[in-house]
Amino acid sequence: TIGAITLDKSGSMAAATSTSGLFMKKDGRIGDSPLSGSGFYVDSEVGGAAATGLGEDIMKGCLSYEIVKLMERGKTPQQACDEAVYPFIEKLKKRYGKAGEISLVAMNNKGEWGVATNVEFTFCVANQNKEPRILMANLGK
Ligand code: ASP
Repeated sequence: TIGAITLDKSGSMAAATSTSGLFMKKDGRIGDSPLSGSGFYVDSEVGGAAATGLGEDIMKGCLSYEIVKLMERGKTPQQACDEAVYPFIEKLKKRYGKAGEISLVAMNNKGEWGVATNVEFTFCVANQNKEPRILMANLGK
């Protein structure tokens, strides 16, 4: 999945996902990516978030919505990602004995960003004044 969160000059934000779904998926399978709240969520007055990974696990929560709500309550995007994603992964492990790959990116309406993942995850940060940066996140940081 490609997930994007954007902020324009007027302060308007958007979130989008584009995915091929999972390899060898069954016909008719719907993953998290088209589901508002789970695969993506945005509120221009706060920020946005987008997910990638195993939809069957991501859809057990509304992580994108949760991250935006945490930012609305004053958390930075990184704090919001940490507080929403890692306890959720622990819950999955406790309940089902495992958790699939889960990665989330978030940005607030000031352009600050955060990321959380349980794999190695590559993402890109870009703005009009700087060259795009390709960054790597690992489990826990
Ligand atoms: N999240 C997508 C899905 O489960 C797959 C992906 O991110 O690669 O459909």
